[in-house]
Parts: sequence; structure tokens; C-alpha cells
Amino acid sequence: MNIALIAHDAKKDLMIDFVLAYELLLGKHSLFSTGNTGKRIMEATTLSVKRFQSGPYGGDQQIGAEIANNRMDMVIFLRDPMSSQPHEPDIQALIRLCDVHLIPVATNIATGELLIKGLERGDLEWRHLAKYKK
Ligand code: PGA
Repeated sequence: MNIALIAHDAKKDLMIDFVLAYELLLGKHSLFSTGNTGKRIMEATTLSVKRFQSGPYGGDQQIGAEIANNRMDMVIFLRDPMSSQPHEPDIQALIRLCDVHLIPVATNIATGELLIKGLERGDLEWRHLAKYKK
């Protein structure tokens, strides 16, 4: 599966803890990130991550394009709900595209864990079929 991992600055430490906890499982998949999130993940783990631009420089839009092209299977986006982001329209567009294309998306760690548990259990195997059909 292709999995996008994105975290706002206030949530980057949490993302690292999350990725460390599920490193073995995540290592079996292809990982994608916005610039700084991906850099932090690769510094803290043995995981290899394809990095796009940093979020405010277009990384969210690049991941949105992957979703529109049916090349992303899951998005875990740990957003900071307590501060405004300069690229808020890009964030909204990314989440909207997940809804348009029925891509599982988590915007907080609680739902992120559920998605990862579902991934582990094989609940997302339908995505292979969805990819084949398009
Ligand atoms: P970053 O971008 O990983 O480059 O910090 C995340 C975001 O703000 O969307």
C-alpha cells in the first residue's frame, strides 16, 4: 500500500512516536511524506520515505495529486488544530480529495491507530481491487 504520513510542527514528535511504534508494519509498505515530516521520520527510524515538498511549499498539493491519480491508499495527517496554517487551503483540498476518491484518512492519532490496525488486519485489501479497476 502507498501511505502518506504528514504532521504539522506541533505534531511531529507524536508522528515519530507513532511511526516508531509501527515501524515493522510500515516497513512493508511504500511511505510518502511532506518534506520535513519525511526528514524527521528517516532520521528517527530505518524507514525509507519518498519526500515531497514541505507542506507550505506545495507538498500537500503534491500528495493530493497522488490521490487524484489513484496512487495513494491511506493518509495519516496529524494536524495541529490549535494554530492557523499558511497553507490551510492546501490542507482542506487534500482532505477533500480523500473524500472524493474514498481514501481512508486520519487527522489525529486516535484514528491513525485504527487505520494502522485495520491495515495490519487486511481491511484495506479492497484498495488493490480499486486500483485494478481504474
Ligand atoms: P512538513 O509539512 O512535513 O514539510 O513540515 C507538513 C505540513 O505543514 O503540511
